[in-house]
Amino acid sequence: MGSPPHILIAGGGIGGLTAAIALARHGARVSLFERASEFGEIGAGLQLSPNAMAVLYAFGLGDEIKAAAFEPEAGILRDYLTGKPLLTTKMRGAYEARYGHGYYNIHRADLHDILVKAARDSGVALHLDHDAQGYAQRSDFISLQTSQGEYSGDALVGADGIKSAIRAKMLGHSEPRYTGFCAWRGTVATNALPEGTLPKAANNWLGPDKHFVAYYLRGGELVNFVAIHKREAWSDEYWTQDADMTELRAAYQDWDAPVCDILNACKQSYLWGLSDHPALPNWTDGRAALLGDAAHPMLPFMAQGAAMAIEDAWVLASKVLSRDAPMAFRLRAYQAARYQRATMVQDISRNNAKLYHAHDAIGLAKRAVMLKTASLFPAAAHSKFDPVFGVDVTKSHPICQV
Ligand SMILES: Cc1cc2nc3c(=O)[nH]c(=O)nc-3n(C[C@H](O)[C@H](O)[C@H](O)COP(=O)(O)OP(=O)(O)OC[C@H]3O[C@@H](n4cnc5c(N)ncnc54)[C@H](O)[C@@H]3O)c2cc1C
Repeated sequence: MGSPPHILIAGGGIGGLTAAIALARHGARVSLFERASEFGEIGAGLQLSPNAMAVLYAFGLGDEIKAAAFEPEAGILRDYLTGKPLLTTKMRGAYEARYGHGYYNIHRADLHDILVKAARDSGVALHLDHDAQGYAQRSDFISLQTSQGEYSGDALVGADGIKSAIRAKMLGHSEPRYTGFCAWRGTVATNALPEGTLPKAANNWLGPDKHFVAYYLRGGELVNFVAIHKREAWSDEYWTQDADMTELRAAYQDWDAPVCDILNACKQSYLWGLSDHPALPNWTDGRAALLGDAAHPMLPFMAQGAAMAIEDAWVLASKVLSRDAPMAFRLRAYQAARYQRATMVQDISRNNAKLYHAHDAIGLAKRAVMLKTASLFPAAAHSKFDPVFGVDVTKSHPICQV
């Protein structure tokens, strides 16, 4: 038996860290390169669906994540002016019974901390302040060029996000396209809100060309919100601190009272320009492969970008550690196993954008019929989520220990 493969990973976000854990826990040697000078995530929430939880449970991190998170009782779509529920989908208990795992809302920083610790404990070599800049293929290894020098390994994973340098090297430079929508996110201490402002649900108010999501984090201590609406002007794809709260409050000033209460209590929000990217022709090149947002950035209207990165990570490890073919073939097998699913979820996310932001008479009528039908036939409504939430890649793609 040869020595275990050495895998280089560019990017220490949720995708890069989960890939590092999946590979290292099954015997690979892993070196991860993150360009930031410390690990961290922005101060906002993340929804973790059952398909993502399946992988996190397989790492043995499920209970820790559950303890740090909040499990909503239901998902409620609401009218933006009156708050009247348009569709209520039971989540707590129901998702676990249907999919084997629940649906959790977690602070990004809490999840990131758990993943960094798990990567460290699994023996991953973590390198901060290393900006990945490109790679070169050799006959029996690949080298990664970073701001601090060159590193070689058996394979390279580009998990460096929507503006991936590894993708630019692989496929040429292609800028993600600004969709005309921006997302504002922030958190508010629950005790800063009038008592009973928010039911213990994932609440989603739908208005013309806008929607507003609010849910609890950290066992109910914090309320997280995401407000998405049209905004012509945009100059960058990165989070900016100090987003203008006056602009944000004005955009939702006539909305249902809890929306206004949350925005009035919020002191600081982050702003993100939502970009889209057509499906890439290819995610691999010899010994290099892309993963997560670097491979398939998606709009947040299905809350699946991180979940898809987590699934990618597991499947990539299962193929890389299969040992039955040259590395380039194993990476192509990873792409073959993931491409259709990730593209399907990108499409669902785009379609949800139209549903959530319906504004003309036809769009509103279609949505009303769809929501009414779903209310009358809840089992059928639930089953619509099965293709996304009902997949457990840890069962379909077991990983061999090397
Ligand atoms: C408003 C909004 C809400 C969302 N809500 C959800 C949700 O509820 N649930 C969900 O599943 N998904 C959600 N997503 C999507 C999710 O945030 C992303 O899909 C996910 O973070 C992608 O993870 P990643 O690791 O692929 O990329 P990233 O999180 O972007 O991580 C990339 C990492 O690589 C580093 N990096 C970048 N360039 C380099 C380089 N050259 N060299 C080295 N390191 C580099 C970065 O610093 C970063 O640490 C949401 C997205 C948005 C915009």
